[in-house]
Formats: sequence, C-alpha cells, structure tokens
Amino acid sequence: QLDWNGKKVTVAGLGVSGIPAARVLHGLGALVTVVNDGDDERSRAQAADLEAEGITVRLGDGATLPSGTELIVTTPGWRPDKPLFAAAAEAGVEVWGDVELAWRLRGPGAAPWLAVTGTNGKTTTVRMLASILEAAGLRTAAVGNIGVSLLDAVCDETYRDLDVLAVELSSYQLHWAPSVRVHSAAVLNLAPDHLDWHGSMEAYAADKGRIYEGNQVACVYNVADKVTEDLVREADVEEGCRAIGFTLGTPGPSQLGVVEGILVDRAFVENRQKNAQELAEVADVQPPAPHNIANALAAAALARAFGVDAKAVRDGLKAFRPDPHRIELVEEVQGVTYVDDSKATNTHAAEASLAAYDPIVWIAGGLAKGAAFDELVQRSAKRLRGAVLIGADRALIREALARHAPEVPVVDLDRTDTGAMSEAVREAARLARPGDTVLLAPACASMDMFTNYNKRGEAFADAVRALAATRDA
Ligand code: ADP
Repeated sequence: QLDWNGKKVTVAGLGVSGIPAARVLHGLGALVTVVNDGDDERSRAQAADLEAEGITVRLGDGATLPSGTELIVTTPGWRPDKPLFAAAAEAGVEVWGDVELAWRLRGPGAAPWLAVTGTNGKTTTVRMLASILEAAGLRTAAVGNIGVSLLDAVCDETYRDLDVLAVELSSYQLHWAPSVRVHSAAVLNLAPDHLDWHGSMEAYAADKGRIYEGNQVACVYNVADKVTEDLVREADVEEGCRAIGFTLGTPGPSQLGVVEGILVDRAFVENRQKNAQELAEVADVQPPAPHNIANALAAAALARAFGVDAKAVRDGLKAFRPDPHRIELVEEVQGVTYVDDSKATNTHAAEASLAAYDPIVWIAGGLAKGAAFDELVQRSAKRLRGAVLIGADRALIREALARHAPEVPVVDLDRTDTGAMSEAVREAARLARPGDTVLLAPACASMDMFTNYNKRGEAFADAVRALAATRDA
C-alpha cells in the first residue's frame, strides 16, 4: 500500500471525476491542489466547497505544474497534449487517470475486474455481463463509465465484498492507466471516434489495446474487426492467458459464435466430449440485432473466462434489458414501428442499428464531430424508404445521400430548435408505409439541439406518442 501522507498530488480538473478524486486523496492525507482551466461561476462555487475542506484549488491556470508536485491525477476531459502534461514529463512526474487511482486504492483481496472497451456497445455489454454474473449467483456490480465510478466502487463499503466487477473503460481512461491488470478484457470494435482527443487512429487504437496488457485469463477480441485481434497479439499478457474470439458466424476453435440461431461456445467447453457448448438462442437477446448479438457473445466470453456455466449465460441474457435510448421500441402507430436509438451518436453506431431494420425512414443529424457520412449512407442506402434531417450538420448527411442514394426522398428540416423533433416525426410518418420502421439513429452528437442524447430520445418518444394520440382520435 502506498503512503499518501503528505504526498503532494495535483488533480487536473474539477468536475465529476476531479472533485471525488481530490476528496479521496485529501482523506488519505495527501496535500492536494486542484488546477482548473476555467474560472467561471460554477467552478468558483466548487472551489469554495473544496477549499472549505482544506483542499487547495487554482482556477484559471491549468497549464503550470504546482511546485513540488509528486503525482498528477487527471480527469478524462484533459487531452494528453495539454501543457501540464508536458511539464510533468519534463519534471519526471507520473500521471494517473481516475481508473489508475482506483486500481491502486482497491485494497488487498479486492474483486477482480472483467473489463470492456470499444467504440460502441460498452455499456450494453457491461450490463449484459453483470446480468450473467448475477444469474450465476455471483456478487457483482456494473461500474466505470456507467453510473458508479470505479473510484466510488473501490472506496465505498457497499462494494467491499463483491466477487467480481463488470467494468466499462473508455479510451481516455485507458490512456492514463499504466498499471491496471485485469482478469480478462474485451475490445468490442474500433471505429474512428474521439480522434481529436487522441491525435490519430493509431493512438486511439493503442489506448484501447492497453486493456489487454497483463490480462490473466482471457483477451476477448472481435473476429470481424482485425485491429482488435492485432491488439491482442501485441499485448504482453500473463502466461496461460488465452485469446478468445467472438463472431456472428460459425466459431472456430477458441471462439464463440452463432450456429443456426444458437449462440455457442467452442472456447470454454465444459464437457470435453463435446466440441461446442450451447449458450442461448439469438431470440433470448434484446434486441436481437446483429451488433447486439456480438455484444452478448463478448459478455458471454468474459463470463465464461470467469468460470460461469452455460445456463447462467442464458438466464443472464434473458434477464437483460437494454438501457433507454439504445434501440428502444417506442410505439407502433398505424403499422409503423418507431425506434429510439438516440445513443447512436457516431456513424459506426448508426450503421449497426440501420442494419437491423428494413425498410427504414431514418431521422438523423446533429453535431457531426468531424465525421464523414459516405460509407454509412452507401451501406444503408438499400434499406432507406426516406430520410428526415435535423440539426446543425445535416447538410453533410444530405450531401452524402445525394451522392450515394439520390432516389431516396429527403426532408431537410432547416431547424435546430428542440421543437424540430415533433416536425421530424410527423414528416417521417408521412414517408413511412405500414411495415416500415421509423428509426432515430442520428449518427451525430445532440448538443446543438438538446442537453444530451437522453433529452433527444425523450423528445422523439414524446413526439411519437403525440402522433399516436392524434391518429387514435
Ligand atoms: P457505449 O457505452 O460504447 O457508448 P452503448 O451500449 O451505450 O455503447 O451503445 C451505444 C450505441 O452504439 C447504441 O446506440 C447502439 O446502437 C450502438 N451499438 C451498440 N453495440 C454496438 C456494436 N457492437 N457495434 C456497433 N454499434 C453498437
């Protein structure tokens, strides 16, 4: 255990992870200084609270390393190219993220971690995994980027006696987690996202790949996504740790996959007489869309690596219900199904949900975050009955549609106010025919029109219910 007494620690950033980190470190006896770029009303109020507790806060200067700093604990918002980190490197000061801090504080005999990262599907997979572990009678919790932070889970009494943690890790967190070594880990997929933070696709992939370093039992990769397999090959793992693939096709040796609508395991076979173990049916997984079956297979692989039996995998998957705004069925109105996938905030996620329906009236648009839409539109064009575009960067999608799907009717709503969603739903209803799906899969972030993706999804659902009310009347 580390001796924190009198250790000079600088916390980079206030906010949801900086404030708890500062408090925990202060409680351990460290001399904590929080540095923050901003100096607005909100940060001043937060600073006042912390200073009343004896924590030093420096507002409006996040670039200078406080003298005598022995360790920096950073929050995920801080990009690695910030001057503070250059100063730290020069001074030979280590930088930890909140996950590294949690790892170091987890205490002897703490629950092992089963970890999940990837561009999309992390939250869903971690929830599926927790559901499977619970069905196996294990004491567990879903933690990480997912309601409960790892630091809370490690410091809080309620989590003291767990058998195992199902952990969601972002690429930001992995970047600053040099010594984390988990039981088993999965990288679900890799598509361009957050490149502004990481600097390049290579750097992004390398940070995701950190999750495999030092794995003890299994490195779970996506057979369809070669980069994930490469990351396993490059990782330095413990002796005996195995590479386990998951695939939507027939599984090879050391893989989980799907055979005639059944999820099967060829990697962790309980009965050596058989060469595959049946886990669950595709129809047991909600929603049974291809990308979500992949999530279920990844969750099953991690659970099986932890020794969970096939029946618990099935029971856990059956009990699983997706979080809101992730391919959520809202209502059927006059034979048309309305589905809310507001969480599809990038093109890779939107492509997955567009692949799950046919024909589709697609509601899309928002903040593009530098993305290109050509591939998404090309691959989905055949299934589109029509498209309704909203939000700041809708022109990018309109142009991609014009290039690759000129025959698809497009309604371009020149609106970025919150009320635009009602009009979008009415326009989509006009384009749809019975049997169609109206799918909100924006492929963009929501902040141009809404506070977050939850609010965007709620606006969609409200608009659908309003539509249903007028049609029923
Ligand atoms: P994350 O925690 O990585 O953001 P979520 O489980 O919250 O992932 O899902 C985010 C979005 O990504 C959802 O809208 C869903 O449509 C899409 N998605 C989920 N799983 C996958 C996957 N395996 N591949 C591609 N897209 C996915």
